Amino acid sequence: MNHGFSVLKTDKKSKARRGRLWTPHGYIDTPVFMPVGTQAAVKGVLPDQLVSLGSQIILSNTYHLALRPGSELIQAAGGLHAFMQWDRPILTDSGGYQVFSLQSQRTIDADGVVFKSHLDGSRHRFTPQTVVDHQVRLGSDIMMPLDICTPYGATKAQTAADMAITHRWEADAARYWHTLNTDQLLFGLVQGGMYDDLRQESVAAITQHAFSGFAIGGVSVGEPMADMHRIIETVTPQLPPDKPRYIMGIGLPENLEVAIRSGADMFDCVLPTRLARHGQVFMAGHQRVSLKQARFKLDPEPIQPGCDCYTCMRFSRGYLRHLIHARELSAATLLSIHNLRYLIRLVDTIRNQIG
Ligand SMILES: [Zn+2]
Repeated sequence: MNHGFSVLKTDKKSKARRGRLWTPHGYIDTPVFMPVGTQAAVKGVLPDQLVSLGSQIILSNTYHLALRPGSELIQAAGGLHAFMQWDRPILTDSGGYQVFSLQSQRTIDADGVVFKSHLDGSRHRFTPQTVVDHQVRLGSDIMMPLDICTPYGATKAQTAADMAITHRWEADAARYWHTLNTDQLLFGLVQGGMYDDLRQESVAAITQHAFSGFAIGGVSVGEPMADMHRIIETVTPQLPPDKPRYIMGIGLPENLEVAIRSGADMFDCVLPTRLARHGQVFMAGHQRVSLKQARFKLDPEPIQPGCDCYTCMRFSRGYLRHLIHARELSAATLLSIHNLRYLIRLVDTIRNQIG
C-alpha cells in the first residue's frame, strides 16, 4: 500500500509546494482546504454535496464527539466514516482548541484536562492517551494530540508554561501511538503564541518525535493579522520539509495564500459555513458580502459569475436573498456550498500553478 507524504513539485517563486499525502482512506493532494464538520456533519451540507464541490478530506472534533454521542457509540456503529457516511479521509482535532474556547469550563493539571460538559455539566477527563484512544475508536485517518491552545494576549511566562505541558503531552501521545501499531496517522503540533523564540523552541521539541506530519496551532485566536502572518511565514519553513505541514484554523483567502507561499500544505476553518449561516458569501476579490442587502433584490446574477458551484450554476442573488429573508433552511446550504467551493477552488487553482 502507498503511504506517507511526497512533495511532487516546489514553486520557483515562493516556498510553496505541491504534494500527496496517503491516509488509510486514500490520498489527498496538497495544498488542501478541509471543511469542518465538528459534530460529524459539515453544517447544512450533505456528504454527496461535499464530494461534488471537491472536498478531499474533512475535519471533525474529538472533544465534541467524545461528549456526544461518545466514541464508543461511534465505534459500535462502525466508526466515524460509516456513521456519517463519508468514505474519504477524516482529520480529527483533539480538544486542544476547546481548552482555549471553553476556558471557564476546564481545569488543567500536569497529566490532562478535566472538562465540565457544556451539554449536561458532567465531568470528563482527557489525557494524552485517552485522546488518542478516542480517535482510534472514531477511526480518523489523521489524529491530533492533546495540547493547550494559549489565548492571544497571554504573558510570555504563561505561554511558556502552557507550551511545556503541551510538549510533555505530545511526547506521551507519540510514545503511546507507536505502541498501538495503527495505520492511523498522528500529527505533532507547535505552540508558543506570538513569541518567536518560544515558537523556535517548540519546533525543536516537537520535531524530535516521529510524527506523520506537523501542525502550527495557536494562530487565528484573535491576534492581529500581521502577527499571524509573521508566525506562519517564520515557523512553517522550520518544519521538516518531508512531512505535511498543517496550519490550524485559517480560512480567509488572504491567509491561505500567505500560508501556501510559506510552504504549508493543509488548512481548516469553520468560516465558510459560519459566514453562510449569517447570509455572507465570498465574491470576486475575496470580498465578504452580505446577500441580505436590498441592492440584491432584483439581481439576476449568480453569487459569483464564473463560479462552477451548484448554487452559482442555478440560482440568482435575488432568489438567495429571498431565501435568507424567508428563513428557509436551504439558504444556509446553498450559501455554504458556494463558500466552500470558493475556498477549495482557490486552493486547487494555486496548487495547479505550483511548479
Ligand atoms: Zn458559487
